Amino acid sequence: MSEFIKPELVCPAGTPASLRTAVDAGADSVYCGFKGPTNARNFPGLNFTKAELSESVKYAHDKDAMVLAAINSFPTAGRTDIWKKSVDDAVELGIDAVIIADIGMAKYVAETHPDQRLHLSVQAGASSPEAINFYVERFNVKRVVLPRILTVPEIKRVHDAIDCEIEAFVFGNIGMMAEGRCSLTNYVTGISTNMDGVCSPASHVDYEPDEEDGLTTRLGDFAIDCISCGETAGYPTICKGRYDTAHKKNYYAFEEPISLNLTRLLPDLMRAGVTALKIEGRQRSRAYIRSVVSAFRDAVDAYAAGDEPDITELIALTEGHKETQGAFKSKSWR
Ligand code: SF4
Repeated sequence: MSEFIKPELVCPAGTPASLRTAVDAGADSVYCGFKGPTNARNFPGLNFTKAELSESVKYAHDKDAMVLAAINSFPTAGRTDIWKKSVDDAVELGIDAVIIADIGMAKYVAETHPDQRLHLSVQAGASSPEAINFYVERFNVKRVVLPRILTVPEIKRVHDAIDCEIEAFVFGNIGMMAEGRCSLTNYVTGISTNMDGVCSPASHVDYEPDEEDGLTTRLGDFAIDCISCGETAGYPTICKGRYDTAHKKNYYAFEEPISLNLTRLLPDLMRAGVTALKIEGRQRSRAYIRSVVSAFRDAVDAYAAGDEPDITELIALTEGHKETQGAFKSKSWR
């Protein structure tokens, strides 16, 4: 046996069908959101009505899996009732934890539903012990989802100085480390990642054939990439477009289309005190969810048993078959 406690595997569920798939593939918990602007993945075709979430909670609980409700976008003045109702509905449905980013919503949960388990979303951007302890002391937060800007030794230092659990992203999409603070999409589309829950909405994406059988990708009025014939391309977000700058032509000025993959770092993360491993991807297909969750289930179980897992399948599931360990090893930005 290994020297660390087996962590919770926290998996994405964009739809009721994805939730069932993740649970059946071995998720310890799934995270999901209501339809509407209250969560950070407010895409058409995704998310849950109250009735769907009720059924899904029952399904998960029957299989000993937990359901975490992400209510983690930022309400604006005059619209807070929508967020409060989502919290009330989640509590009524017996959700295992509410994931909150906005400090006002944290206060609302703590005061209105003091027995409800509360997690602090990555969107809150709390990365120092002082910030995290503030939420723990004031709002009884039980877990913090750390921004993807910390190294393993930094996570260990945070762990040693806080009084709540740590959840860390280990696989999936990686942005430019602007957790909860990215305004790129607002600039181009007028729709906010932080307040509307939408980055690079499909309604604003357009592909124009060019003269060389390629495609120019547009978001709003801006060309953000040119894709050659036969080239693979991910979903067009602004941070992963190719641009001409004063110094260089046609390159990924912010970030490459690449996936975070920390599988090899799992033992280090567990030793550092991470107790929940989060897989990104509520917008992904059921086939993807099944493959990634199963592979991580096997990897976590193998590491926890002191064995070495085979992770080749996970590499095949990365965006463009390219992986990074982000700020943990590969990137200099933070
Ligand atoms: S533009 Fe990139 S960094 Fe900003 S919210 Fe979208 S995916 Fe994240």
